[in-house]
Amino acid sequence: RPDVRALSNAASFRRSGPAQRHDHAVGYALRMQSPFIDLGLLPELAQVLAGLGYEEPTPIQSQSIPPLLAGRDLLGQAATGTGKTAAFALPLLQRVLAAQRKPSHPALLVLVPTRELAIQVAEAMHSYGNRLGAVVLPIYGGAEFGRQAQSLKRGVHVVVATPGRALDHIRRGTLLLHAIAAVVLDEADEMLDMGFAEDIELILEATPGERQTALFSATLPPRIAAIADRHLREPERVLIAREKTEKGVLP
Ligand code: AMP
Repeated sequence: RPDVRALSNAASFRRSGPAQRHDHAVGYALRMQSPFIDLGLLPELAQVLAGLGYEEPTPIQSQSIPPLLAGRDLLGQAATGTGKTAAFALPLLQRVLAAQRKPSHPALLVLVPTRELAIQVAEAMHSYGNRLGAVVLPIYGGAEFGRQAQSLKRGVHVVVATPGRALDHIRRGTLLLHAIAAVVLDEADEMLDMGFAEDIELILEATPGERQTALFSATLPPRIAAIADRHLREPERVLIAREKTEKGVLP
């Protein structure tokens, strides 16, 4: 009868390779192969993605991650369900955390149309950035202002906000934007439909002019193109076609 313990020890030894001083997880991360590392992402991020069961990047991820890692602006036409959250979150978390390890004034601002999306995107960014030590704060209307202000004061890397509440914090001086290195406008068409056009303009004008900007929208009507023209600099354009099968139609 085989010695199960010996076998499992041998298997883990094979995986871990030669004895090393640092812990096995780090050694494994440094040696791991991943299509996400091929796109330029850190092994720590690739390891988190492997843990989440992400095996391959989605099309919007393969097309958006390299230019965003290189610091370029991006105009992405893509709906939800395409993996667009990770497409902007992974490269921008990596850049922001490389520039500043300690949470302080926010370096990355993500604007989203609804409270639900703020929570969802903040949760996704928290799980992606966990191993890098990313501090991500959702900010939306209907929740207690003072608590959000306190959390901002303690220091963050990323704020994921609805435009109205973000503007409230900016006006009251509880959300300072001088350290913003990148802004993401997520579901820009939805934000315009909800009447946030003016708020978005005011917020963008309050951020440093040399920031990196990414705009995602399911559709690109003229008023979105106008925002892109005004606020993006020579953006990389990424177009991801909608799913071919519409709801209720048999394939
Ligand atoms: P999103 O379009 O950002 O709302 O993402 C849609 C869903 O796809 C989310 O549940 C993600 O966790 C998941 N997802 C994103 N990227 C990948 C990937 N590369 N592999 C597997 N699942 C993914």
